[in-house]
Amino acid sequence: MATGNINVSVENIFPLIKKFLYSDHEIFLRELISNATDATLKLKHLARIGEAKIEIGKPTIEVKINKENKTLHIIDQGIGMTKDEVEKYINQVAFSGAEEFLEKYKDSEAKDSGIIGHFGLGFYSAFMVANKVEIFTKSWKDEPAAHWTCEGTTEFTLEDHDRAERGTEIVLHINDDEKEFLEDSRITELLNKYNKFMPIPIKFGTKEKELPLPEDAKEDEKPKKVTVDNIINNPNPAWTKQPADLEEDDYNNFYRELYPMQFEEPLFHIHLNVDYPFNLTGILYFPKLTQDLAVQKDKIQLYQNQVFVTDNVEGIVPEFLTMLRGVIDSPDIPLNVSRSYLQADGAVKKISNYITKKVADKLKSLFNNNRADFEKKWNDIKVVIEYGMLTDDKFFEKAEKFVLYPTVDETYFTYEELEAKIKDNQTDKDDKLVVLYASNKEEQHSYIEAAKDKGYEVLLLDSPIVSHLIQKIEANKEQKVSFVRVDSEHVDKLIDKGEEATSKLNDEEKEKLKTAFETHITKEKYTVQLEAMDSKAAPITITEPEFMRRMKEMQQSGGGGMFGM
Ligand code: ADP
Ligand code: MG
Repeated sequence: MATGNINVSVENIFPLIKKFLYSDHEIFLRELISNATDATLKLKHLARIGEAKIEIGKPTIEVKINKENKTLHIIDQGIGMTKDEVEKYINQVAFSGAEEFLEKYKDSEAKDSGIIGHFGLGFYSAFMVANKVEIFTKSWKDEPAAHWTCEGTTEFTLEDHDRAERGTEIVLHINDDEKEFLEDSRITELLNKYNKFMPIPIKFGTKEKELPLPEDAKEDEKPKKVTVDNIINNPNPAWTKQPADLEEDDYNNFYRELYPMQFEEPLFHIHLNVDYPFNLTGILYFPKLTQDLAVQKDKIQLYQNQVFVTDNVEGIVPEFLTMLRGVIDSPDIPLNVSRSYLQADGAVKKISNYITKKVADKLKSLFNNNRADFEKKWNDIKVVIEYGMLTDDKFFEKAEKFVLYPTVDETYFTYEELEAKIKDNQTDKDDKLVVLYASNKEEQHSYIEAAKDKGYEVLLLDSPIVSHLIQKIEANKEQKVSFVRVDSEHVDKLIDKGEEATSKLNDEEKEKLKTAFETHITKEKYTVQLEAMDSKAAPITITEPEFMRRMKEMQQSGGGGMFGM
């Protein structure tokens, strides 16, 4: 038997990093701005704890394009690096200076500083788009600046430099086939996507700003314009603040910031804020939803320390809540693993459960505190709640306290209230509670009226998933209740007490009439019934039994994901 060490050399790894580390080339910018942010946050931390006795002012990060030289520049005023530190942090692939910093300063709560870095690989993503990368850097310590150059091989140069300002400038010499990253519009797009809420102000070019008109302005006077820095981000987004410091307006404004194209106000929000046993902040919004779930495209965005990661939250947020909008931010979600693994991950499960619980709590408090308002919103929120009840047993349990059953006349019952209301009048021969419902007020109008004439309550349940949900509710109530659609049986038989309906026709006449109709329909699928002559309803009804109808509906909607429904 032979044992030994697998020899991993950087020459082998380099092309792999370039090719496979990140499938998306565009994330290099996110990584470099994250490093610039970390460098600034580190300096702020050192200043705060008195280790760096310097005036740090208001450090910013700047992104610049030089079209002539085909270079992209990322410039920060952060902690900088000495020559030795470049050796240590840059030349060692997969050594994370961020993790080292957090470890070194753990006693001074460095973990609260929001430092982003993790794996010590982000910097090298620069080589996905650049054939040559330069670093100009000067440490906050009183040491000469350094200049590092590398052309994407394992060779590099490192020398002193005369740069005077503290901080780091990364220069990317962009590859010919990545020229898009020299376009203002493309960089703007990336900054808006990944860096819109990062904690240090990021400047990209300048913009014109209109000054307010003076008090004594003439009527046709145009406001003066000045040129100001174009800061692309909001460093203090609402979700990073304490709920107590935010007004309703702040939440609505933040919604607008997240979804500039959404003109409708959200119905309400849920502020997530927990730091044990995992760290998670965020704000979720209930939007007005249409029945057409497939068109819902403004999704929940996932951040880690204010850096945008993805808007695919599958596996992290329970599926029924992916219809919501907003932001969640957690450094504790492992994202370098496959989604199927994510779903099995214990921490992620806890996060998902926490979110479900917070949403249920919020709904319950809305119901308790302002029932009238909750009823008004019901139509817009029911899809999420019903889908949640269907797919998540824990949510089902909680939802029983606030789920509403609206009647065709827009009275909203809780299940308890409904039960109390109908238990004397709507039971069948086995003493089972019979809940009547309509799915379409217009089409089922005559059936609804007939049922109401008998003093029955008729619910209006018109969601696309209602037949599945009913099944679930019946099972949950241990089959002590049965939901019957108002047009699925003859009105007299809806609440079947086993009594015979009376008719003035004798048996032979009845049989004849029935046969006459039955020759025109498929007997297995429909039932023909003759109305008792004293009834106000139609003299004859052809109905489809409840179980047939449900089976058909379920086949149509499939049992699968909601977007297939
Ligand atoms: P990570 O950010 O996960 O630590 P990176 O590969 O992104 O790994 O960066 C490696 C290290 O290089 C950083 O941890 C940091 O010590 C150093 N570094 C990178 N960019 C800068 C910068 N702009 N200013 C100061 N140090 C930097
Ligand atoms: Mg990094």
